[in-house]
Amino acid sequence: MKQYPIHRALKHFFGYDNFRLNQQPIIEAVLQGKDVMAIMPTGGGKSICYQLPAVLLDGLTIVISPLIALMKDQVDALQANGIRAAFLNSTLSNTEQNHIITAVRNGEIKLLYLAPERLFASGMQFVNFLSTLPCNLFAIDEAHCISQWGHDFRPEYLGLAALKQHFPTVPVIALTASADNITQKDIVDKLALQQPQVFISSFNRANISYYIQPKRKAFEQIIHYLDKHRNDSGIIYTLSRASTESIAAKLKEVGYEAAYYHAGMGSDERAKVQEAFQKDNIKIIVATIAFGMGIDKPNVRFVLHHDVPKNMESYYQETGRAGRDGLKSDAILYYSSGDIGKLMRFIAVEGNAEQTNVMKKKLLQMKEFAEHDGCRRQYMLEYFGERAPAYCGSCDYCLSNLEHRTATVEAQKLLSAVTRTGERYGADYLIDFLRGSNSAKIIPEHKEIKTYGIGKDLKKDEWQVIVKQMLQQRLVDVEDAAFPALKLNETSRRILRGELEVTLVMKKPKEETASISTAPQHHADLLQELKEVRREIAEQENVPAYIIVGDNTLLDMATYLPLSFDGLRRISGFGDYKVGKYGPAFMKVLQQYAATNNLETKIQLKVPKRERAAKPNKPTVNSTQRASFDLFKEGYDIADIAAKRGMAVSTIENHLMPFITSGELSAVKLIGKEKLDTIVALIKQTGQTIASKPIKDLLPEEYSYGDIRIAQAHYQWMKDA
Ligand code: ADP
Ligand code: ZN
Repeated sequence: MKQYPIHRALKHFFGYDNFRLNQQPIIEAVLQGKDVMAIMPTGGGKSICYQLPAVLLDGLTIVISPLIALMKDQVDALQANGIRAAFLNSTLSNTEQNHIITAVRNGEIKLLYLAPERLFASGMQFVNFLSTLPCNLFAIDEAHCISQWGHDFRPEYLGLAALKQHFPTVPVIALTASADNITQKDIVDKLALQQPQVFISSFNRANISYYIQPKRKAFEQIIHYLDKHRNDSGIIYTLSRASTESIAAKLKEVGYEAAYYHAGMGSDERAKVQEAFQKDNIKIIVATIAFGMGIDKPNVRFVLHHDVPKNMESYYQETGRAGRDGLKSDAILYYSSGDIGKLMRFIAVEGNAEQTNVMKKKLLQMKEFAEHDGCRRQYMLEYFGERAPAYCGSCDYCLSNLEHRTATVEAQKLLSAVTRTGERYGADYLIDFLRGSNSAKIIPEHKEIKTYGIGKDLKKDEWQVIVKQMLQQRLVDVEDAAFPALKLNETSRRILRGELEVTLVMKKPKEETASISTAPQHHADLLQELKEVRREIAEQENVPAYIIVGDNTLLDMATYLPLSFDGLRRISGFGDYKVGKYGPAFMKVLQQYAATNNLETKIQLKVPKRERAAKPNKPTVNSTQRASFDLFKEGYDIADIAAKRGMAVSTIENHLMPFITSGELSAVKLIGKEKLDTIVALIKQTGQTIASKPIKDLLPEEYSYGDIRIAQAHYQWMKDA
């Protein structure tokens, strides 16, 4: 890849080898003096988008950020990279504030963090002060807070609407992790951005696995999870202050280092808890949503929701606090529909009927998501306006045992009912119609149609599943109107003409798998030593350990054993400043370890990586799968096994999948070399690693979905091997 100066700057100041997502075009636009709106998921790396321009531009960058805790953390992190940054807020004494103001005036500060209310405090005094300085960029973090349409409106942000009046020539970059279309427009309007360049990154957090589980005894469910993740750090969200306290107390009783956090605590106490968590002295925080916006801890391995969040934006943001370091992490929601009802009563925004309605609608969307019978990731991404495949491989739905069942005839019956009744009726009516209901609801002349009653053989709920799946797979459309009638689309017509098979996917629920990361082979004892070095440095500098270097940086060191400063520079997270400042301490331990154990450096194996790609969870094998495999090894073919065990062929195919993925069973034995090669070539060509429709359509008739899935499992094995 070509090395531009900003690449060199990225490595020099921050120690990173590559830009992520849209960081590069965003930074280029900012450097050209354009107004920019950047929408990027939590953990995507928004900060660099203004921090790098700030160090490259002359003069001063003002960063507006809503939370005091976050400011300190960011400033610490910048200073650890040798960048001159400061914040002004109420936690500082007057003397400290004066000190910083003097430094700013003398041009000694590149980035100054402020709360929005600060900007317009004491009349125009502060604005006037800023006007005397060479301000070259305003960065508005959490920009959705300016919009009433967003989920986290903060009146103090409205003041920022005056920014462009006072500083018409200073470019503004607005950043947020979540903004639907209306909110996006609102941000541009309110901030009066001029012909802004808008960058929207994918919201997908590939390293987070999403699980939604029926809430039974939530505390026991939580303990069940924690028992399997003893060494990990995470957050448990609940809705009430009282329950944060009681859950934390119960966790302590059974031996977990847990603390609670909510807005009713004194600010000192809150800061203490937050700091202990950041510094890994407390592993588990039980918190209301008050906890979070300030949390920038990279190694949060799990986020558990004891109660359902109020909207998708919150769910996304809260779960997004897991896995900022790119390592595998879990998000689990314990869901009961009763919780939605309870929330509905509390959700009103006093004196603002319009906003109350927004909040209610968002809560219902949350409910729909939690009850959704399909890939969680797909639903979530589509909610944020992004097209996504129907299978992600790392959510409870995709990891459950999926059964594939052909339902072409049923689909045709439904679609024919849709046309015969003029595409004017919703699912409930059509199902009653298909089942030949005598209800007076059915229009008399509809009872004369041939299709009336042809679906008697299925129960109402079975039809409901079929309709739901057909909508999900977009085999039929629904009119977006007050009365949601089903309508045919092009795919529906192909099904009616018999050109397309319809396969329904049914699931058997499965628990979350214990999916915590293991790095490529690293030296575990060395990692411990390096952690110890980091802890000592962090203590001396009085900052959280990850500010020194992140867990992934330590892992890389313990894996690749850089034994020179040049080697160290190739480890992601080591900019030149950090190599100079912390390099010697780590180097000493690394060299000693290598000498004692007679090891050589492996740094030449390290290729600068893009994002650490998250691998989908390896399927685990259960006894029924094993039983099918044993029969196969005895020489029975799939049809025999299905007959013998009284199960569907597709079920047996599913049983064998994990053995293909693990390499124990060769796919050639199942579908033959020709089919295998054809399908694998197609997978490579289309990049489609998921089942199956688009691929099926491209293959000859005689290739079944089962064949495709077997080939996909084979492909997965090749990739892993
Ligand atoms: P956001 O504000 O979007 O939630 P941050 O700016 O806090 O995300 O970045 C998340 C993490 O990713 C931080 O630890 C940051 O240092 C790291 N990071 C950001 N950009 C890069 C990059 N290009 N390469 C590697 N790590 C990065
Ligand atoms: Zn999924």
